[in-house]
Amino acid sequence: MKRYLGQNFLVNSYVVDYIISHMCIKTNDFIFEIGPGKGALTDSIVSKAECYYNLTVLEKDKELIPFLKKKFFKPNIEILCGDILRFDLNAYLNNWLLNGKARILGNLPYYISSQILFKLLESRDLIQDQLLMLQKEVADRIIATPKKKEYGKLSVLIQLFYEVEKVIDVTPDKFKPIPKVHSSVIKMSPTDKYVKLVHDKNCLFEVVRRAFSMKRKMIKNCLVNLVSERELQSVGISPTERAQHLPVSKFICLSNLVFARKFN
Ligand code: SAM
Repeated sequence: MKRYLGQNFLVNSYVVDYIISHMCIKTNDFIFEIGPGKGALTDSIVSKAECYYNLTVLEKDKELIPFLKKKFFKPNIEILCGDILRFDLNAYLNNWLLNGKARILGNLPYYISSQILFKLLESRDLIQDQLLMLQKEVADRIIATPKKKEYGKLSVLIQLFYEVEKVIDVTPDKFKPIPKVHSSVIKMSPTDKYVKLVHDKNCLFEVVRRAFSMKRKMIKNCLVNLVSERELQSVGISPTERAQHLPVSKFICLSNLVFARKFN
């Protein structure tokens, strides 16, 4: 096992099968798995899917590749050795997909899980959904709704682009070696419901960053010099409110207001 590669392999067949059954693999699905390891999830796809699908797995540890190639020697499965952060995912998916979209699967190496999330964001238009195992604490922040203590910058930035839902929590004893942290699987489905309302993404990122820069402060203090109290009220936000209480839609209103002011 290579701990520096985040190698905590799933060894509980109930959890593995639960995750794969949640995917509801359909005919002609194209699945891309990040970090197959010893193939726990891959194996469940191969034995459970009752339709024709295509599957590519990308593993960084080259010592696992001969094992994977032998175990999954099938015409519809491609085994690649590489680093997901350096891999040209857009080019690969564009090459593969005719008009459908890819389904991403991965029990992610936690040491780079945020970087993988932002990498996948770049390929959002080519992705139908992504089923990802993450550290529970990160998953809880991603799916948190306003007023929950986990709700913050990450929740807003991810929910801007995806519908998110928790699939299952997984305790450390379901892995080998046993990790120090709890895990969760979440499903993320790209959506344009918010993105189409945003006038300038960079402006929005800046507003969100500043709004959450001082967690317990009132929004009027976090956004001082950027938005006046009157402007906050004009989009239905009380100046004494905290960022943690505001839904994604309010951050969009605020950033559109700031962006519009640049041109007036
Ligand atoms: N899918 C397997 C399972 O559930 O048992 C293994 C999951 S393990 C948490 C993460 C896997 O990602 C390891 O096999 C590790 O070698 C691989 N990995 C680590 N860094 C990677 C990277 N940058 N690109 C691709 N795979 C990586």
